[in-house]
Amino acid sequence: MHINIQNIIQTTIHYGFHFIIPIFIAILFYKSEWKKVYFIFLATMLVDLDHLLANPIFDPNRCSIGFHFLHSYYAIVFYVLLLFHKNRYIKVVAIGLLMHMVTDYQDCLWNR
Ligand SMILES: [Zn+2]
Repeated sequence: MHINIQNIIQTTIHYGFHFIIPIFIAILFYKSEWKKVYFIFLATMLVDLDHLLANPIFDPNRCSIGFHFLHSYYAIVFYVLLLFHKNRYIKVVAIGLLMHMVTDYQDCLWNR
């Protein structure tokens, strides 16, 4: 595999966004129940299961956003609507999903 400094930075940012930023958001905004909230954030990564429907399943140069079903623009509009749901945990799911989309999207910007 070809390794270069841009790959390393990109991968660090990607997993930083996926794992580290949610911890800060959980602790800052959900102090008393941050562990539960962080767990929900991690669970929203299950949206990547839609990659299993794609061929090939993983392609580092493909942009997930607008390609996979749960990463489509329709899905993202739906996640934004979920932000306004009365149930606070559904709201947490929506925040997690939208952070996921931002993370995947910034990945796409690297390959332009
Ligand atoms: Zn994704």
